[in-house]
Amino acid sequence: MNAAAAESLRPSDEEEAQILDTIERWVDKEVRPIAKKFDQADEYPFDLVEQMKELGLFGATISQEYGGLGLSATCYARLVSTISAAWMAPTGIFNSHLIMAQAVERHGTEEQKSDLLPRFATGELRGGIGLTEPGAGTDLQSIRTVAVRDGDHYVVNGTKTWITNGVHGTCFAVLVKTDPDAEPRHRGMSLFICERGAGFTVGKKLKKLGYRSIDSAELVFDGHRVPAARLVGGEEGRGFQHAVGGLELGRINVAARGVGLATGALQDALRYAQQRQTFGRPIAQHQAIQLKLADMATRAEAARLLVEQAARKYDTGARCDLEAGMAKLYASEAAVSNSLDAMRIFGGYSYSVDYDVERYYRDAPLMCIGEGTNEMQRIIIARQLVQRHPA
Ligand SMILES: Cc1cc2nc3c(=O)[nH]c(=O)nc-3n(C[C@H](O)[C@H](O)[C@H](O)COP(=O)(O)OP(=O)(O)OC[C@H]3O[C@@H](n4cnc5c(N)ncnc54)[C@H](O)[C@@H]3O)c2cc1C
Repeated sequence: MNAAAAESLRPSDEEEAQILDTIERWVDKEVRPIAKKFDQADEYPFDLVEQMKELGLFGATISQEYGGLGLSATCYARLVSTISAAWMAPTGIFNSHLIMAQAVERHGTEEQKSDLLPRFATGELRGGIGLTEPGAGTDLQSIRTVAVRDGDHYVVNGTKTWITNGVHGTCFAVLVKTDPDAEPRHRGMSLFICERGAGFTVGKKLKKLGYRSIDSAELVFDGHRVPAARLVGGEEGRGFQHAVGGLELGRINVAARGVGLATGALQDALRYAQQRQTFGRPIAQHQAIQLKLADMATRAEAARLLVEQAARKYDTGARCDLEAGMAKLYASEAAVSNSLDAMRIFGGYSYSVDYDVERYYRDAPLMCIGEGTNEMQRIIIARQLVQRHPA
């Protein structure tokens, strides 16, 4: 579908504004009040997941023709920032699920789309993406999970790790080698939609610094039989492009989370700086604190504008890896810097679990790692610069 046709199937600006308004109210009523308790207990937010289903979040970017909300990337990014300003972790529940859905919608066969997308949109089937392995993260082409054809099935063997929704999700887009000897290596890679079942189990839930409550797990494939009809696009050798193509929206999402975290840290610090008194006045009146607040606000705003720019370009259907890379790089670093500055402004109380800033500080570094590390973002940005501006 071209960009104009996709645009005509999207909700109107007023409808998107209403959706954002509903999300803001939901965040204030249901998300913010439970964030601290669930994060500290590392407890899975089952009730929030049911509410997310009702809000349509599992179909947020799936087209309306398949039962999704069909939101623009611009609206989606705002929605993610709004949730992340209160609690970043729950956005992972639907974001990696939507990257799987996007791979099916963009590259799947008609049969795969009509079978899977409506069930993804309701959250009946939900999960995420399985790319990373114990021995391969950034260098995805060195994965070792293999799928070997056997009649009208493939047999999958291997281990994935760090997979978001790995415990509570039941369905994953799994990157494998169908031809481990292929050169270049990406020509031997394929993407399958695997549902949990015989030979596909959860290895272990991983304990983490931050991004708690949300399950990150190892997935083990031991002779798992996946129908050949679940090979995305029906053709071997396209999996790397299908997986990496989905990362543009993934990067906009991570960047939007960074905006949320940077903004949440700023808002908390701004409030605290006006309440906390030293030497007879609020610390917001000390210049050293003012400098921090000014830098924090500037970073949050610059990050927001970069994300808006990348999302708007994505919505036109144009290639936007430069813009998405810049947004992801800047917004994630802004989240890290703002959470650290908020810690300094809170002084000793930043170390207390009674305040949210310690959570921002633990959650923020993930944004520099997920959907391509920031080192790799710089390389992608530089390559694009050279391509777009040949000497
Ligand atoms: C909480 C969490 C959730 C995650 N969720 C998922 C998920 O749902 N699905 C999934 O598939 N993966 C997931 N991941 C994995 C994540 O995508 C990887 O951790 C990430 O891609 C980096 O891979 P790595 O950890 O193997 O680091 P490595 O690839 O080992 O990199 C280590 C360091 O070397 C740098 N580096 C590597 N190669 C180069 C190079 N050529 N030039 C310069 N620097 C380089 C990296 O930037 C990094 O700083 C998750 C990770 C975490 C922590």
